[in-house]
Amino acid sequence: MLDLGNRVSIYQPEQEGLIYPELPEFDNFEDERRHRKERLVAACRAFDQQGFDYGFAGHLTVRDPERPELYWTNPMCVHFAKVKMSNLILVDHKGTVIEGNHAVNRAGFVLHANVHEEHPDIIAMCHAHTVYGTAWAATGLPIEPITQDACAFFEDHVIIGDEAGAVAVENHAGSNVAKAFKGVKAAIHQNHGLLTASRHSIEAAAFWFIALERCCQQQLDIAASGIQPTYVKPDRARYSREHVGSEYIGWLHFQTIWGQLVEDQPDMFD
Ligand SMILES: [Zn+2]
Repeated sequence: MLDLGNRVSIYQPEQEGLIYPELPEFDNFEDERRHRKERLVAACRAFDQQGFDYGFAGHLTVRDPERPELYWTNPMCVHFAKVKMSNLILVDHKGTVIEGNHAVNRAGFVLHANVHEEHPDIIAMCHAHTVYGTAWAATGLPIEPITQDACAFFEDHVIIGDEAGAVAVENHAGSNVAKAFKGVKAAIHQNHGLLTASRHSIEAAAFWFIALERCCQQQLDIAASGIQPTYVKPDRARYSREHVGSEYIGWLHFQTIWGQLVEDQPDMFD
């Protein structure tokens, strides 16, 4: 393991006085709640930019900092591009909307509530029916270490074959999905789509979702080319994952998206 001194990541500058994203710190729940909600909105807008919308499918959740048994999520039947601070909803594990006027996505509630309940350490989750993720999910195969970027998922995602293809609208339906999330940041739900979870932030969950979709596209491209790829060796893949696949790195990648959205889409904060 590389000695990083006091730094979380090799990317953190050792030189002082440079512009570089800092992890936030909070001294009250109100500020932390606003921070999480703003990043949840930004994550939805990022999903719009990526073309991850499919009708009302797709949901992102982040726990409330003060009441962790409740989570903030995007409203049912509102396009990712139209999610904003004022239409987010706060939902409990039973699917009751505690705050906000919009309905909750039933399938989103089932999947996410079960994972959140099973894993108190998971702060945020993302799920959407993306083109490449859903296509790759049909193979029932894991993402292979064919690129440095793909190494972020090496031994850090699972394939969920149980209840594959059956729409999760029943309360128990998420349970096997929930169990699968032990110690990994992502899951490929066979014949359904991608899920990511973060013990760090909604930013990390959202970025790793974007990254996983991209990996699925690259897997399909390579497969379609008919050319046999070379693989990063397991020890190198693990080394890369430690450096480019951490929660912090996911959060850091998202800062690029956040900066762009804050400038270009100020209606996020309405
Ligand atoms: Zn789904």
